[in-house]
Amino acid sequence: MLLEVRDLHVEFRTRDGIAKAVNGVSYAVDAGETLAVLGESGSGKSVTAQAVMGILDMPPGRITGGEILFKGRDLLTLKKEERRSVRGAEMAMIFQDALSSLNPVLSVGDQLGEMFVVHRGMSRKDARAKAVELMDRVRIPAARERVRQYPHQFSGGMRQRIMIAMALALEPALIIADEPTTALDVTVQAQVMDLLAELQREYRMGLILITHDLGVVADVADRIAVMYAGRIVESAPVHDIYKAPAHPYTRGLLDSIPRLDQKGQELYAIKGLPPNLMRIPPGCPFHPRCPMAQDVCRTDVPPLYEVSATRGSACHFWRECLHA
Ligand code: SF4
Ligand code: MG
Repeated sequence: MLLEVRDLHVEFRTRDGIAKAVNGVSYAVDAGETLAVLGESGSGKSVTAQAVMGILDMPPGRITGGEILFKGRDLLTLKKEERRSVRGAEMAMIFQDALSSLNPVLSVGDQLGEMFVVHRGMSRKDARAKAVELMDRVRIPAARERVRQYPHQFSGGMRQRIMIAMALALEPALIIADEPTTALDVTVQAQVMDLLAELQREYRMGLILITHDLGVVADVADRIAVMYAGRIVESAPVHDIYKAPAHPYTRGLLDSIPRLDQKGQELYAIKGLPPNLMRIPPGCPFHPRCPMAQDVCRTDVPPLYEVSATRGSACHFWRECLHA
């Protein structure tokens, strides 16, 4: 297994108390595989990814338990230097907002080239040629001319392609993309997502795709892990999820995807808000919003029940949900 997160716990110290952002998350992704991590904001999906990348703000963020195994080594036990070299050469991250991740006063060619100068010891000239090649790979038209331009001279979609090029530069084993298309128009979203999926297959990378939108991952993910209140509430192959969700929260997310055949109808939305992470409800954390909640849900925390060999659900009533 390329990456295995085991029983990860992360807390944030705030002025009002301790926020339990990640509460026992386990997931895995192999080379050539795409895992979509799905959830509303505050579900812990980004924080988990930041812990994997080793870019969690600490303090106030603190990993209080668990393991992050990358190629079999627990990253949490590595020295700072080793950790940094794994992050630089073997993992890369793509963020939602390319404009704030790119340097506004450097041409994109210089930024892409820098990767090769610093990490591969290339000359400026060779690095520039590599930059053009990468821009071609992510299908930026007229790469040879545009390599001299600055980030603000590109459209949002093109900037996101540049981010992908930066991430790919050193051919990492793992890429984590955090809401990579959220800021883009729907049609551009699909193009960027297709490109990412294509490159992932070609380079046989592990890809973790973080999103709040179940609609964008259907065609590209192998597995989906749904997060709620810092836990994984359902984990399954993508087709199983679309066929029939085994958790009411997943069902809610599915029902809130806009569908062509329902044009004009009001979109379903899960009622209520995600919990305050300083006061996570007892029992099943989803119970205040769950249409299927029973008494037991208010007192007993559901474990991740084994629905099948490849599927888990943290719902006491996963059978009922599956057949609803
Ligand atoms: Fe709903 Fe109960 Fe299942 Fe939680 S355990 S998702 S409250 S039915
Ligand atoms: Mg986020």
